[in-house]
Amino acid sequence: MTDSISLPAHHWPILEPGWVWLCGAGPGDPGLLTLHALNALRQADAIVYDALVDERILDWAPEAEKIYAGKRGGKPSAKQRDISLRLVELARAGRRVLRLKGGDPFVFGRGGEEAQTLVQHGVQLRIIPGISAGIGGLAYAGIPVTHRDVNQSVTFVTGHDQSGSAPSSIDWGAISRGSQVIVIYMGIKHAAQIAQALLGAGRDPAEPVAVVAGATTPSQKVLETRLDRMAEDIAHTRLEPPAIICIGRAALMRQVLDWQGQIAGEAPRDLDPLGRGRPAEQG
Ligand code: SAH
Repeated sequence: MTDSISLPAHHWPILEPGWVWLCGAGPGDPGLLTLHALNALRQADAIVYDALVDERILDWAPEAEKIYAGKRGGKPSAKQRDISLRLVELARAGRRVLRLKGGDPFVFGRGGEEAQTLVQHGVQLRIIPGISAGIGGLAYAGIPVTHRDVNQSVTFVTGHDQSGSAPSSIDWGAISRGSQVIVIYMGIKHAAQIAQALLGAGRDPAEPVAVVAGATTPSQKVLETRLDRMAEDIAHTRLEPPAIICIGRAALMRQVLDWQGQIAGEAPRDLDPLGRGRPAEQG
């Protein structure tokens, strides 16, 4: 695979010894990597990767040393420091270091902290954005994160804070009033509290919700439910992290845009799930 995709002519940057490239690996499907990520995989001799990075992607760098820096939920601080310092150490040892993180490195991934530590230690770096699960993962479920008939804004919010508990500092009332579509990362564990907070802030109990687990991977699962039932449905269907929760009428679009289902031979369930009553391209 590595050699079968040749990068198009371009001044591709060189990953020099002693540098760290902080790179998003996308939500899972290796095809969602950027060309800069592929260029990085071909040059790195040390790859420090997270639990959310799809293993198939690492196969594209057969020669590099792979260093696992995974951690899931809760108690980040001590380990996060270790990871950042490990990157500094590898850079100082003259390695060509690729730090691969799931999705986009700057979206709920502490990439900003790692990058800051590198700069503070005088390590040179390049940042390579990636496709974030809250956008690309929803697209794989047939859900556009914005749609002219649904939302003029979207809020990306984390379902737990630094301590691993439900985030108490989030003003759910403000989010509830200000954002027609709410996309929640790391929200499975605290789904009941989140739903309660949104309902308490006046959100419609019947509001459509989609939960996309393992988005873009072969084990992708999608649960369609409503706000007042989302927590029990998540429990019943035993959805496991990583999962994205999308609250809002955008979730209805899956009824027409479940393109993976359609590739598998299913007919669209509803050609006009938002009830426009006219072709979509007409104002
Ligand atoms: N930097 C990542 C997010 C890291 S936080 C990004 O931009 O996507 C980890 C959370 O991301 C998970 O708890 C889950 O909510 C979400 N996530 C990451 N990969 C996912 C996937 N393949 N499917 C569903 N959710 C995913």
